Amino acid sequence: MKTYDVIFIHPPRQIELEQSKLLKSYRSTYIFIPMGVFAIADFLEREGFGVEIINYPLEQYLNPNWSLKDYLRTIDFKICGIDLHWIHNAHGAIEIARTVKEVNPNSKIVLGGFSASYFHDQILKYYGVIDGVIKGEAEVPLLEFAQKTDRNQSLDSIPNLSFRTTSNHIKSNPIKYVAKSLDDLNFSNTKILKSAKQYFDCSRKIMGISFNVPIGRGCPFNCPFCGGGQRALQSVIGRSKVVLRNPEKVIEDITTIVDTYNVPSLFFGHGSYPATFKFWKTLFGLIQKEKIDIGGDLEIWRLPFPKEMWQIFYKTFPRRNSSISISPRTLSSKVHQRVMEICDPTFKFPKNQIEGLIKNANLYQRTLRIWLTAGFPFQSRLDVQKDFNFALKCMYKYGKTKSKPISIMIEPYHIFPGSPAFESPETFGINLNYNSFLQLKDFFKNNKMLFFYNAINYNTNIFSSATIRNLNKFLFFSTALTMITTGHKSPENNFKEKNAKYE
Ligand code: SF4
Repeated sequence: MKTYDVIFIHPPRQIELEQSKLLKSYRSTYIFIPMGVFAIADFLEREGFGVEIINYPLEQYLNPNWSLKDYLRTIDFKICGIDLHWIHNAHGAIEIARTVKEVNPNSKIVLGGFSASYFHDQILKYYGVIDGVIKGEAEVPLLEFAQKTDRNQSLDSIPNLSFRTTSNHIKSNPIKYVAKSLDDLNFSNTKILKSAKQYFDCSRKIMGISFNVPIGRGCPFNCPFCGGGQRALQSVIGRSKVVLRNPEKVIEDITTIVDTYNVPSLFFGHGSYPATFKFWKTLFGLIQKEKIDIGGDLEIWRLPFPKEMWQIFYKTFPRRNSSISISPRTLSSKVHQRVMEICDPTFKFPKNQIEGLIKNANLYQRTLRIWLTAGFPFQSRLDVQKDFNFALKCMYKYGKTKSKPISIMIEPYHIFPGSPAFESPETFGINLNYNSFLQLKDFFKNNKMLFFYNAINYNTNIFSSATIRNLNKFLFFSTALTMITTGHKSPENNFKEKNAKYE
């Protein structure tokens, strides 16, 4: 029997998959492991602990008859860490914890990740199988948890930990650990992941992305629906500033992964905005210097994205498997203005600058994805109609020839815990349908993984959630033609890729 000190399990969204036959085409299975899990597991391994990462949805994808229970019976372990970063995994994370405790009642179960951090008190209150939740960044807290559990010592001084005491009380230690630098962490120790080769082989097929490259932590902005913005991170996990990795360290990860696995592209886990231009120029320069022949997917978090950035992107990455994305959500300047007044003065995506991006994407022949949403706060029916007209115009102009790499991507959005709209829905003119952990867990348990990955948990003063879902579906299919010409793939494959993103 193999013995580990700590196992990490990436939970699925749903455990009961009657539709296992359809599983292979479902992005909702969300096989991505949050990038930090690799760094935490590696950190513990370097301190002498035996670790393994198990990706439940991947194992299920590889073998629909795979059983976590059976697998756990073949190994011994003391601690089980379960990531609950994306709230979509709330039901899966709790069910996995129950299974682990059933097989190994003496093990300690610790949850981590942004959603677990946000709901730490509710999770510990309602689920006796969970022994602790680490709030925020977890390398040092989990190491101390493993050391102190091993020595049977008090957990009172472990930073960031909320836990159940021996007298069954819930204690919440303060958040004292926020990494100042990430350069001592290793994000590419993939040998500790079960089925690592299959993970990298399948990621692009299922998720449309091959390898998420860890770039840094934090974000300086506050988009209405996002739980990863500056204020949310500050209040939930204590991170007030962005920290970026040394580009030399990022290159080490990229070469390790590219040399070991057959990955066609890299997705950068941080976006472009003026304060990061220097970082991207250095990193892309290093990719060129190392002559790494691979596609790149980069997001623009805030404009501008000047011609110089297009030039360096063009020189670094081939057209195939590369893209630049921007998410204005709507082209209505009136809507952007309201968001700027309420939560983020940088939320500006003027139409002339979007048109400038389109011009440069055509000039440099690199795919540009423009992400829109029907049902964004403050959007009127007329705004949606105008966005639809814009999408149609793009389809008409760029949907007929291979040389115009513009793609309009439509998706509904989920209002994530901790986001400005979740914290203050009335300010955004929306009603949140679910806001406690119990409600959200049930919502994701019952929400079928059908068309869109994001489950709609709100309605606006104008649109009901059903209308938001249907409008996005309608717009998605209406603009499908624009992506037929993006990239250097057959139209059929490109359409499949866009569909894969939506399950
Ligand atoms: S969606 Fe907005 S707030 Fe969230 S990570 Fe991206 S830029 Fe930052």
